[in-house]
Amino acid sequence: MTILLHVCCGPCSTASIERLIDEGWQPVLYFANSNIYPQTEHALRYEQLLKVASLHGLTVIEEEYDHDRWLNFIAGYESESEGGGRCSRCFAYNLAQASAKARQLGIEHFTTTLSVSRFKKSSQIFEVGSEFAGFEPIDFKKKGGFERSTQRSKELGLYRQHYCGCEFSMR
Ligand code: SF4
Repeated sequence: MTILLHVCCGPCSTASIERLIDEGWQPVLYFANSNIYPQTEHALRYEQLLKVASLHGLTVIEEEYDHDRWLNFIAGYESESEGGGRCSRCFAYNLAQASAKARQLGIEHFTTTLSVSRFKKSSQIFEVGSEFAGFEPIDFKKKGGFERSTQRSKELGLYRQHYCGCEFSMR
């Protein structure tokens, strides 16, 4: 079955793509991350994803980068700590785009690599995702997913970022 995979970065894509393929899914990669700041960082993370995608012979659909629109969407939540309301808004922004893209492509299922990170609560991501039809709550950090993503990133020489993505997470 085909599934649209919202991908946040190359390192998180490694274990997620492997697991989906192992479980019989055919992933379509979708890079939609207007939360990432600055734009050069966005470009760098996209490049890493392209490296991983090419290993699997997969193409990547890149969404237009619009950080100002994202800032408007999370307005009022800027000072929240990581894992709080700002992040729920951020997940909602990216998952809404993924949901719309899946619908546009006629793909019934979609999910996100965001659950790979041990710094993000999968339950928080899934709660947001449950608002969208077709969202699959796959916990990619389970089954050793986080460790696998770290290992593969090292093997492939991928750039691994030291902050989540937005300017508020740089603090
Ligand atoms: S810390 Fe990460 S998840 Fe939270 S708002 Fe910033 S980019 Fe989004």
